Amino acid sequence: MSLPHDSVLDRFLRYVVIDTQSDPTSQAQPSTEKQKNLGRLLERELKALGLEDAHLDEHGNVYATVPANTDKDVPAICFCSHMDTAPDFSGTGVKPQIVKNYQGGDIRLVGDTNQVIRVSEHPDLKDQIGHDIVATDGTTLLGADDKAGVAEIMSATQFLVRNPEIPHGPVKILFTTDEEIGRGADKVDLEKLGAKFGYTMDGSTVGEIENETFSADGVTITVKGVAIHPGTAKGKMENAIKIAADIIARLPKDQAPETTEERQGFIHPVGVSASMEGAELGFIIRDFEEKGLSEKETLLKAIVEEVMANYPGSTFTFTVKEQYRNMKIVLDRHPEVMENLLEATRRVGLEPKVTSIRGGTDGSRLSFMGLPCPNIYTGGHAYHSPLEWVSVEDMETAVKTIVELVKVWEERA
Ligand SMILES: [Zn+2]
Repeated sequence: MSLPHDSVLDRFLRYVVIDTQSDPTSQAQPSTEKQKNLGRLLERELKALGLEDAHLDEHGNVYATVPANTDKDVPAICFCSHMDTAPDFSGTGVKPQIVKNYQGGDIRLVGDTNQVIRVSEHPDLKDQIGHDIVATDGTTLLGADDKAGVAEIMSATQFLVRNPEIPHGPVKILFTTDEEIGRGADKVDLEKLGAKFGYTMDGSTVGEIENETFSADGVTITVKGVAIHPGTAKGKMENAIKIAADIIARLPKDQAPETTEERQGFIHPVGVSASMEGAELGFIIRDFEEKGLSEKETLLKAIVEEVMANYPGSTFTFTVKEQYRNMKIVLDRHPEVMENLLEATRRVGLEPKVTSIRGGTDGSRLSFMGLPCPNIYTGGHAYHSPLEWVSVEDMETAVKTIVELVKVWEERA
């Protein structure tokens, strides 16, 4: 068979027109069967490149291996991207538009002229003069998150296969489903994958590498008040609704999502239900450090105890449940994962900028499942919106980064 067009742009354009939106209301994995349409195409393309073990499994994940071509003992490295697009905005009927040789200024989208990618809101556009930019027509999202990553891994794979003189260890490829609804790592079979370390291709601005996520706990507080007929309640009633309100009123205002940024954590109430007899309060606690998490939990418990001292007939429970942890804890145990990535980034002419994510990612899940996994730039921007755009030159830089990274691992083995 003759191979289809195969620049990273050609691949990207081929993948974004396939609707792969995931669905948080579905219990199935993949949450939408249509994600497999892209999976089947990728399986075929990987096989056409000669990767014999390429396959799509029942959960929609695609696995493949570029076998090692060196005698050195190089650890197997995985590159991972997700195939689904976010439920936040339509991914049906994507009509990519290419602005060739961008010369600055705002980009008005042709299918909905109210949609404008403004330089004032997207300052990264200033670094794109002379580049080709892909956007949508304004009626759908683009799906650069994360089909830019998919196209880049595919292009790097093709490059390694067609340039066998470049020595490398085993390179494992993993394309997942349902990342956007937080389930991307659920059905990944790490034993089958057989990689020692991984990299997700799911970042944004070139040069930016993410090696940290929040650490996260949930806290549930239950309160049992003293219920009594309101007509004869004097000196006796302890209304759990008022106890819950007292607790919330005392939360520190400078440790809330709405008052924090960058590396600051927070205590955030996410649900309250209460009657006179009893109340239940749900919280999420976030911090980059475990120490910060436990300090916030100690503070929250002290607030509850202080309030409860005013209600001697009432009782409470305080339960902490671990949700996820900062992947840096895992990555710090394997410093070569980041060191090699920083070296590869410099080799493609970029100054690496290491940043953190105020949330959790599949990379953090995979890291704690046993696959240490920082996140690499793809060149995409303004994710989950009709203003999403990606630079073709930056996608090419990301492809080169993958190739250089594979070379660094081999050289240093
Ligand atoms: Zn993504």
